[in-house]
Amino acid sequence: MSVLFTNVTAVLMDEAGTILKNGYVQVEGTSITYVGTDRPQGDVDRVVDCSGKVMMPGLINAHTHLPMTLMRGYGGGCDLQTWLHDYIFPAEGKLDSRAVQAGAGLGLAEMIASGVTCVADMYMFTSTIAHEILKSGISANLSCGGVYFGDPADFHPDTCGDCVAQRALTEEFHGAGDGQILIDASIHGEYTSSAPLWQWMAQFAHDHNQRMHVHVSETKSEHQASLDRHGLTPIQTLNQYGVWDNGGIAAHCVYTTPEDWAIMAEKGVSCVHNPYSNLKLGSGIAPIPDMLQAGVNVALGTDGMSSHNSADLFADLKLAALLPSGVRCTPGVVTPRQALEMATVAGARALGRPTGQIAVGKVADLILLDFTVPNLTPCHDVVENLVFAAHGSNVVMNMARGNIIYENGTFHTLDVERIQAEVRDYALPLLFH
Ligand SMILES: [Zn+2]
Repeated sequence: MSVLFTNVTAVLMDEAGTILKNGYVQVEGTSITYVGTDRPQGDVDRVVDCSGKVMMPGLINAHTHLPMTLMRGYGGGCDLQTWLHDYIFPAEGKLDSRAVQAGAGLGLAEMIASGVTCVADMYMFTSTIAHEILKSGISANLSCGGVYFGDPADFHPDTCGDCVAQRALTEEFHGAGDGQILIDASIHGEYTSSAPLWQWMAQFAHDHNQRMHVHVSETKSEHQASLDRHGLTPIQTLNQYGVWDNGGIAAHCVYTTPEDWAIMAEKGVSCVHNPYSNLKLGSGIAPIPDMLQAGVNVALGTDGMSSHNSADLFADLKLAALLPSGVRCTPGVVTPRQALEMATVAGARALGRPTGQIAVGKVADLILLDFTVPNLTPCHDVVENLVFAAHGSNVVMNMARGNIIYENGTFHTLDVERIQAEVRDYALPLLFH
């Protein structure tokens, strides 16, 4: 399949900060094959006129838990620990594969309609999620979020459920769909596991060339408990066991320290900033400008829909650009352009994927926003409008891996009516009645 986009205004997300005007972008198969102002020669299967629209790379949601969409708005008003123990864990205890499938489908529908083309997801029933991802057409780094609550002396990988899952997922899905799915090694958090699992997961990542995905220093109490237990922060504790040796993503990083950032920069560990979720749960505000200054790659995520209530990454874009200005009483500490980088090119770097930019050879993950609508009129500066004025609902087309999977309200890969019926008739009664 080849597609030629004409009359393109595009934020390329290249290093020069180019805004392409009256241009052409061509896609063949899964890749971008032309970007420029001269119309390329040759026949194509489809021409898409982009007049009145703005193209940008698809958004990368670098930390989420898709099936938690089923718990949207459940247990609102609590801090993280109360929310997890009194609301989320009891509901999750009732989940089965069919409910996870429904929740993942619902989350994917919302993300696709609001411009996401790639996610890093951490959740149980991961193989069920993998099948939904393959159907949906977007790319995903998937992980099962390893936990181990047993006595460290009793640990054995053949009896640790998440080690068994890690092996099985890797065998079945690592690289599936021609790279559409990558399996990450993962540890849910320092506070939900212990050294034998860290060691095993680090070795597994090394042996299978996988990145690592971990929740890190999300709350003050979690961070302090690690200091009390080990005399070290979660980043430093895990570093002692080789957890970061293959790089990866550390979600939240709200209480991380300069020593942590030095480790992250050296080992290629990206921070995933989840500003909306951190604010909603009262966890705090991550020191993003300091991390950027220290050379840490910063990506952007929504976290689960249960602690964000929406999958609209444009909300996090706004917060990523706004919060540092408020905290430091200085505008532009993080520029709109830097916020946009977190959701695109930095997200791609964090996930180890050749996407996040509109350039020849990159994966064709592209979205179009309607810039003729009232909330995006007038447009003095495309990036200002994208970061501070746009909503996910302004997305009118989502192309993932060269396929148009969403267009003008119509989903081409998901049966949203069936998904909603499954959520209503099966998953919600199972969890909440
Ligand atoms: Zn999370």
